[in-house]
Amino acid sequence: MFVHTHPGEMVAYGPSGADLRVSREGRLERRHYLRYDLASIEIIVVDGGKGNVEMTIYQEPSAYLNSTSLIDQYEVDMSTNKTKQDALDLLKNYGYKAAIIRFTEGEFSPEDIDKLKSFEFKLTPLKMLKN
Ligand SMILES: [Zn+2]
Repeated sequence: MFVHTHPGEMVAYGPSGADLRVSREGRLERRHYLRYDLASIEIIVVDGGKGNVEMTIYQEPSAYLNSTSLIDQYEVDMSTNKTKQDALDLLKNYGYKAAIIRFTEGEFSPEDIDKLKSFEFKLTPLKMLKN
């Protein structure tokens, strides 16, 4: 699981193309050195105001690695659709798991806990993968 923050001017946006590339490259590195596939769960934390913390969470599809051309396309699409919700919709179209959740008064809501449960922490030996 990897956590990073977005500065003020990026708070309204979803993950950047660079974020998606870092996630993909880390996955390729683990495949190379560990001989295991593990798609990291990435979290962008921003100040949600009024003492709340908002997290945008995303994860590459565990079934396949996203291509760099798909990530290039994401950047093109995001150059016109810039809200976090637009980013989430695009990511889901590309097979990512993606959600926005809030940590409010020290707690996650039951709905947000359900969203968290949809992310996978799964190590798969490469010899069991076809791609
Ligand atoms: Zn980022």
